[in-house]
Amino acid sequence: MKVTKKKLKLKEPFVKVLKVLGVIFLLLIGVFIFYRKEINELKDIGYSEKASNNILFKNKKDYILSLGENKTLNAAFESDYYNEKYLEDYSRINYVKQDDLIRNINKLLNKGYTNSDISLILKHGTSKEVSDFVKHEKVQYLEEFFNVSYAKLSNYDRYLNYSYETGEDEETTVLYVNLNLDKAPYDDAVEVEKFSYDMVVNKYRKLNEKFEPKLVKIKEEYASSEGMMAEAVALNAFIKMSKDASKEGLGLIINSSYRSYQDQVDIQETYRNLYGDSYVEKYVAKPGFSEHQTGLAFDIGSTTSNVFANSKEYAWMLDNAYKYGFILRFPKKYEDITGFRSEPWHFRYVGTKISKYIYENDITLEEYYALFLDK
Ligand code: ZN
Repeated sequence: MKVTKKKLKLKEPFVKVLKVLGVIFLLLIGVFIFYRKEINELKDIGYSEKASNNILFKNKKDYILSLGENKTLNAAFESDYYNEKYLEDYSRINYVKQDDLIRNINKLLNKGYTNSDISLILKHGTSKEVSDFVKHEKVQYLEEFFNVSYAKLSNYDRYLNYSYETGEDEETTVLYVNLNLDKAPYDDAVEVEKFSYDMVVNKYRKLNEKFEPKLVKIKEEYASSEGMMAEAVALNAFIKMSKDASKEGLGLIINSSYRSYQDQVDIQETYRNLYGDSYVEKYVAKPGFSEHQTGLAFDIGSTTSNVFANSKEYAWMLDNAYKYGFILRFPKKYEDITGFRSEPWHFRYVGTKISKYIYENDITLEEYYALFLDK
């Protein structure tokens, strides 16, 4: 009996502790359920777990709920660089997926850029370019250049210099600078390594000595001399075009197609001996800078007229070549963009999607490149 009583006495405080623990436990569960509900409210409108936690921790839930989904705010609340005084700004700056986004936004705000300036800056540069740009002292003419869709943040200084020196409007400035036309031709040209039907080779974009596309022989009936070669898809497109032209009583013939790097070296020498340095400098593409090395370019002649520019074939091609994937590569009116003097006979295969766009919008391959390919 004595032993049992003792045992019961020992149990009572223990039960009390258990009861207290139980109440605490239930409270904790309650708090946890409440907390999860709050988090889920934020997650439901598009905030991440991490951002939602920080929103609650910083006591900004009501503010966030009043705004709804906002990716820049989400990034801000995820970031270690979140700065309370910029909260309103974050909500008004367009989101882009970039490393260091919030850190860069803070720095740009600190320099006095407006929210719309910052949205423009972020839109036109990569994370790295934006990080470089924030080191730049505050610039003036942002909208002027960056309202052009393909303007590049990293080119800002060049835009400014070019428009100042030439007096060109912003759109022309952005285009020309993106095409490197503010630099001397052939100087630090980019090397184009991969073959593609939309590849651009010009005085600023070169091929190396070894570049060679897959080539097929051109049958004699389509060429003015033996042994010419071209890229197969481009050649087939030419053949189809030539057959359709002949149904209309026209005769198209290939005078020149693929030329190797070495061929271009030889051509340069021939012309140098005939006409001298300044002629070559002006009219002959340097080795590596000729589109003929791609296998996609054709110098076309007429079987009915000696001067192609005056021929019915030329007129027909101006209206129809695009249907077969060809463009007139060096039109007279665009000499300053292509960097080559007008060559009515020189057509380039780019595929029908691009040729149609270029034809309908009356632009050059360079402009197409600046618009869509230069990423
Ligand atoms: Zn040519």
